[in-house]
Amino acid sequence: MAVNCKNFANLIPDFLSDRLDDAELSDFLAHLDSCPDCREELSTQYLLYEGMARLETGGPFDLEKELEEVIRTARKRLARRQRVFSIAAALEIVTLALAIVTAYVILAM
Ligand SMILES: [Zn+2]
Repeated sequence: MAVNCKNFANLIPDFLSDRLDDAELSDFLAHLDSCPDCREELSTQYLLYEGMARLETGGPFDLEKELEEVIRTARKRLARRQRVFSIAAALEIVTLALAIVTAYVILAM
């Protein structure tokens, strides 16, 4: 499912609680980068989502800055998962190559 202005807002709660899968998260962040309106919407929802909880505990908070951090963390998480995925894919290719070589050696004997 592609992320667009229509469904972006619906994905925000899942984004904030880290329930998006990698593909969704990737689309979500890409749309966030390209769309100031949705970026604004995320800010608003984040203020409501975190602000409510924070009002009870009191104390100073800078939610704009925290949201930056949340987005940065999500990007890192995504990058890390994708890196792990490509390592796994590379290992699979190596394993496959070894299997082919082994089969070839056995056949040649
Ligand atoms: Zn948008």
